[in-house]
Amino acid sequence: MRDLTSFELEYVSSCARFAREVMAPSVKHWDEKNAFPLEIHQAAAQRGIPYAGFPRDLGGKGLSHLALVTAGLEMASVCAPMTFTLAFDHGSLRPVMIAGSPEQRKRWVKDLIAEGGHGAWCMTEPESSGSNLLAIHTKATRTNGGWRIDGHKCMVGMGTVAQVFFVLADAWDGDRRLGPTVFAVPRDAGVVVSENPPKIGFRCLPTPEVRFPGVAVGNDAVIGGVGSGLPVLLDSLDYMRLGGGVVILGLTRGALHDVAPWLDEREIYGGQRLGDTSHVQIVVGRLLARLAAAEALLFQAAADLDDGKPVSHLLSALKLVASDLAIDATSEIAQLWGWRGIHEDYPATKRLRDARQTSIYEGTSEIQAMNLFRRWASAARSGSGE
Ligand SMILES: Cc1cc2nc3c(=O)[nH]c(=O)nc-3n(C[C@H](O)[C@H](O)[C@H](O)COP(=O)(O)OP(=O)(O)OC[C@H]3O[C@@H](n4cnc5c(N)ncnc54)[C@H](O)[C@@H]3O)c2cc1C
Repeated sequence: MRDLTSFELEYVSSCARFAREVMAPSVKHWDEKNAFPLEIHQAAAQRGIPYAGFPRDLGGKGLSHLALVTAGLEMASVCAPMTFTLAFDHGSLRPVMIAGSPEQRKRWVKDLIAEGGHGAWCMTEPESSGSNLLAIHTKATRTNGGWRIDGHKCMVGMGTVAQVFFVLADAWDGDRRLGPTVFAVPRDAGVVVSENPPKIGFRCLPTPEVRFPGVAVGNDAVIGGVGSGLPVLLDSLDYMRLGGGVVILGLTRGALHDVAPWLDEREIYGGQRLGDTSHVQIVVGRLLARLAAAEALLFQAAADLDDGKPVSHLLSALKLVASDLAIDATSEIAQLWGWRGIHEDYPATKRLRDARQTSIYEGTSEIQAMNLFRRWASAARSGSGE
């Protein structure tokens, strides 16, 4: 793996400093508030932290994925959900980056970044579409000047603050079904957004319900062609798993970091400390081994993305092993804290709550495993021996 440049290292240390100085003191506050951490975003903007992975001509810093994941780990070890909100737009604006026209890139990336705005992805629906993305009920009907969108989405990350919603809808021209299509729908076109619902974790990532009650948009809202939504969606979902992987591994790093002093301090009997027992050393050593393996996968995926290599399989594997690890690690670590592991005045409890989300978003662990199986089985059938 190559070394980071001095420019990249400067960005990483600026993010690490920001996490220590600004994020750390307010982690509990934003968790309890169950709201988007606006002041954190304002402070991050002053330090030039958001949007760093976008090209310079669109308002970013043109930073490599390798640098972004290194910085993301530093921040997510302090607060995974807050870091998720800060990095979110790299994934949410992906449809425009890969399939948008120059005009769409100007409006929904360049201008949005200049305003400090956000995008949100609307795939999941309360009654139908979840893992099966194509079971959508949201409908886009062709009109004279464009499209009318009717539908109801839920768990829309950043939905309470987004200026644009990338909506997966089934497009129809009269009785003719044109197929799944991605539309960029401006918030002010008549989108109705609920409050942030109560979740057990990732509370500062708002995930409201979003309704489209006959919202009218022009033809210029279509991203990547009518009926061509699936490849845009799948590429975007793949890409989001890099950011998802970063925050999950940062969360695990942070949980281990929190517990280290406790293992040294806690006397169990006869002057022996918790960390002196072979049982605890083996539990923690196994978690450290799994963390090292998952981080190697993360850095490999980031470097391959920078080199333009295919990474879909690496990102599915990363998301799966990282979320399994985070759930196991935060549970084992909560146990090591004794009653403090389930008490809100101690850090392990929030880590445990946050970790529970990670095997669900960006495709559940079952979906990642099936992705990997299908790829492996198809290679085995074709004799490519992958
Ligand atoms: C923190 C968070 C943020 C989110 N952000 C967004 C967002 O920004 N935009 C958005 O659109 N959605 C978002 N979601 C929703 C998320 O994408 C869905 O929850 C996820 O895709 C799973 O869909 P579902 O919850 O409907 O579960 P279902 O699809 O109903 O699955 C239920 C269970 O069945 C399993 N299952 C499903 N199909 C199969 C199968 N074929 N074989 C075996 N098992 C199967 C699943 O793995 C799961 O365990 C977010 C969720 C969370 C928790």
